[in-house]
Amino acid sequence: MNERFTVLKTDAEIRARIKELAADISKDYQHIKPENPLLVLCTLRGAIFFSADLVRALTIPCEINFIKVKSYQGTRPAGSPIFEFGEQIDVRGREVLIVEDIVDTGQTMDTVMHNFADKGAASIRIATMLDKPSRRYPHLIGTVVPDYIGFSIEDHFVIGWGLDYNEDFRLLPDIMIYNPDAED
Ligand code: 5GP
Repeated sequence: MNERFTVLKTDAEIRARIKELAADISKDYQHIKPENPLLVLCTLRGAIFFSADLVRALTIPCEINFIKVKSYQGTRPAGSPIFEFGEQIDVRGREVLIVEDIVDTGQTMDTVMHNFADKGAASIRIATMLDKPSRRYPHLIGTVVPDYIGFSIEDHFVIGWGLDYNEDFRLLPDIMIYNPDAED
């Protein structure tokens, strides 16, 4: 069988999982005070829906901002991630939660974490909707370890729930495995 689209996680499964993650995150950040809220940084554009649902389910004081890191072309990584903005976000002394759509080779999150660590963030954690641990670059195994993972998946190229293929399919309600070479 060589399907073009295969459902991997349904909308209902994803929403239920986000509620569980939000409960875990709210518990771990119980110490957060309104005067220094958790700084949630949504990575554009893939994590927009995940971030929106996640922050609204948190029960701790938080603030949301956005960063843009580009690294994929089609179904292949396009080399080193480019940090398109985020320079102007002041993370000094802030507890930062980076919200990512999917961690693959780990390069993007490694770049982002180093950047914010250098800028004096008090703590940095990663919440990712999906993780592909088998794809991690060897030098990042044990270094890029997401703190909160929606679903750990095998090595598939996936779309939907914010994830695109050359800007298509972002709005699909389920997460699907995409096989662009399959015959229609
Ligand atoms: P990394 O730097 O960890 O290799 O890649 C992270 C970025 O690559 C993600 O934020 C996402 O934009 C893109 N990416 C990695 N795997 C997939 C995938 O299976 N589907 C889609 N649509 N994007 C992916």
